[in-house]
Amino acid sequence: MKNSLHFILVSLIAGCISCANPSFVINKSKMPSMAIILPDSANSILLFSAEELKKHIKLIFDEDIDIVPIKNKDQYKKYIFLGIRPRQFSRELKPEEAVYVIGKTSIYIFGNDEINRTYSDESPGDFINKITSEALDLEYNRPGTLFAVYTFLENEAGFTWIKPGDDGIFFTKTSSLELPVKEVSWNPQLIQRNIRAGTFTYRSQLMYGQYAPKEFNLSEEESLNKLQDLLIWMRRMRLGRNENYRFSHAFNSYWEKYKDTKPDIFAFTVKGNRKAMGRIERVKMCPSNPDLPKIIVEEWKNNLQKFPHQKSKSISGCENDSDGLGSDDWCHCDACNALDAREPGEDLYDYVTDRYVYLWNAILKEARKYQDDIMVTGYAYENMLQPPRKEKLEDGLLIEFIPRMGGDYDITEKLYEGWENAGMKKMMFRPNDMNWEIGIPMGQEERIFNNFKLAIRHNAIGTDFDSMLGFWEGISDLTYYTLAKGQVDPQVSFEKLEDEFLTVFGEARENISQYYRHWRNIFNNKILKEELRLNDGINTYFLEWARLYRLTGRIDEFYSMGDFDTTDSYLDKALQKNISEQARNYIQRMQIANQHSRLTFSSFMAGKGGNRADMVKKANDLISFRIQNKNKIDIHWNLLFQYQHYHMKDQIGTRYLGFLPKELDTSEF
Ligand SMILES: [Zn+2]
Repeated sequence: MKNSLHFILVSLIAGCISCANPSFVINKSKMPSMAIILPDSANSILLFSAEELKKHIKLIFDEDIDIVPIKNKDQYKKYIFLGIRPRQFSRELKPEEAVYVIGKTSIYIFGNDEINRTYSDESPGDFINKITSEALDLEYNRPGTLFAVYTFLENEAGFTWIKPGDDGIFFTKTSSLELPVKEVSWNPQLIQRNIRAGTFTYRSQLMYGQYAPKEFNLSEEESLNKLQDLLIWMRRMRLGRNENYRFSHAFNSYWEKYKDTKPDIFAFTVKGNRKAMGRIERVKMCPSNPDLPKIIVEEWKNNLQKFPHQKSKSISGCENDSDGLGSDDWCHCDACNALDAREPGEDLYDYVTDRYVYLWNAILKEARKYQDDIMVTGYAYENMLQPPRKEKLEDGLLIEFIPRMGGDYDITEKLYEGWENAGMKKMMFRPNDMNWEIGIPMGQEERIFNNFKLAIRHNAIGTDFDSMLGFWEGISDLTYYTLAKGQVDPQVSFEKLEDEFLTVFGEARENISQYYRHWRNIFNNKILKEELRLNDGINTYFLEWARLYRLTGRIDEFYSMGDFDTTDSYLDKALQKNISEQARNYIQRMQIANQHSRLTFSSFMAGKGGNRADMVKKANDLISFRIQNKNKIDIHWNLLFQYQHYHMKDQIGTRYLGFLPKELDTSEF
């Protein structure tokens, strides 16, 4: 009796405090009376959201919380509802919208959830698991509730996710969390927020794995675990998309289909006929041909029935990729030439934008007979990168840009402006910048971020970054974090995101900041300066596919041993600070990564010197270090081996070590 009276008194006092300042309190000791409540039939997104919320509550409170269906709710006193809205919330949600509402006894976390691609036993995908497959389908499914869980955990419980996996989750343990009553909503400004993760599939692991010693072989399960961790991290960064606009080389299959019945839709080549000159999947079209738009729209109508979700928003008008034939295989016919305002001295390989804008407009006109809001997509790159000079863009074209962080931003901006002056209203941003890594820190984070911001200022409505390479812990983790997180709110500054990242290191913040700034100075003051000196402002010199060897071949002009001494000293000083266990562990892993960077630099130097005995010794040291530490730090090893072989022409000299297969097929890259 006495005890229960005491309990009532304490409750009354606590109740009064919350009257004055209404809030929802999560208490470690009261966790058994609280539950995550799901609708009776919860879909994969809600089930996955519940597991993520439970996992994070466990991390912060060291206590388990129950997950129950709503029919069992009465066994509990306080609720976190998932995928269930408060009664007074009646408005429609926008695509992917994420909302949480904190009341005094209940929290509601919900959002626009749509499973557009459902799991099927016949084609179970990589994960062979319905919940994971559907929740982590970044291409098709909208997980508004899951985004709301992450927004809640970040804003209200102080979580930061600086890399995939549990060792990238930063938080402060507590026994009580007081959450003021409020409603918060997040709507993505970008309809597509994408960083390609194709380098992490099991198929890619097998492909890249050919370049690595057998110690780096991953089983299918190990490989899928890495992919899954990455995709979960991407969801925590709120990557995904709410519409599917398709950009792809559109005419790959046209030659076989139409060569006999409609030969006039193909390019009239330098040879004076309309025949494919190189690979048939790279045949070029005749953009002025009046039948071509009709054929494209017919194709789209047929495909729309088969793949409604992929095809309902856009038709790709993107020309096939070039095939190393220069101007020869582009259309030389009079009608096409009459469309282009080419300048004296320019060839077809320099400029054909007008004729393609003409084609895209024609496709749009034809397609809009059938669907009012259909869009037509086109690439602004290579000989279509320059803005059109004569043609104007109809409202309904969506242009995709591949501008380079190593290009001149004034020139990039002029390109955007030129397209805008010709009528471009929206664009997609699809840079290759994330591919330029050499395996030691480059300090590219600010430059790459600014390239993104430039696109945002010119009305980019979505991104498609090619590609996640996966070198974390002091190499490119800050780049990945700022680029991914910058898409949550494209107005946010680099400094703000850098600050979020550095804050997880507590008192060691300044030392870690010095570490990253050291590499950033090398990039901004040496690497980028040299790149800009050597390129024409658009086409990059060494920050380019299969051209990184030009950078590593001169590695000592950009890096010295002293850089590794200096950055090691920042990490040493950081470890002397009074910091959390998590931060300590992370910095210790950065130390291992920095040792690896130092050995990589030595190997590049030996390769540059060209003394075979020295190369073999340095390469052996490097690879033994990799084998010893392969599970201690988070580096996508197989890809690193392949990159250093293919893009850096095996400067390290792995070919002398005996583990490479005799035949290496590089055509797949
Ligand atoms: Zn033509």
